[in-house]
Amino acid sequence: MEFKNLKLTNSHVCDCMSGAINTNSEMFIRRIGAKKVKAGDFKVKIEREDTVDGDTCDEFCSQREISINNIERYDKDEIIESYKIELMKQKKYAPNIEFFYSEFCFSDGSGRVKHTPQHGHESHHDFYKSDTFDISMLQINGDPVRVAFVNTLVQEPSK
Ligand SMILES: [Zn+2]
Repeated sequence: MEFKNLKLTNSHVCDCMSGAINTNSEMFIRRIGAKKVKAGDFKVKIEREDTVDGDTCDEFCSQREISINNIERYDKDEIIESYKIELMKQKKYAPNIEFFYSEFCFSDGSGRVKHTPQHGHESHHDFYKSDTFDISMLQINGDPVRVAFVNTLVQEPSK
């Protein structure tokens, strides 16, 4: 499996990818923008935006990772709550924004995943896609589900 397209392994020297593994057996979810998974949903920041590479991992590696959450070993409802909180934040600036999430597992050659619980939720993983990755390599489980928008997540106890 090669990782040359995004220059993940041949220019920037660090150990971000060490410990990243192939996994085809575990289910993950990812937040996406519509009720159908599109190629754009799996584009990394450097592919989506006109950004400039820096020397640090924050400026280099984080532009090449795709955030996913593991639902095999972590509570899916809790992860979706974290999506709801993010939706609430973004609605303030983009009132029409909608979130969906897609459930999937990877197949041979997709890329590697690394557990990165420091990025938000403890179920968070970074996905490094390989040069041959294509969304057709995802084994998608059902249609994407809309993340419900609620104005307040904390319900006051009724007296
Ligand atoms: Zn790095």
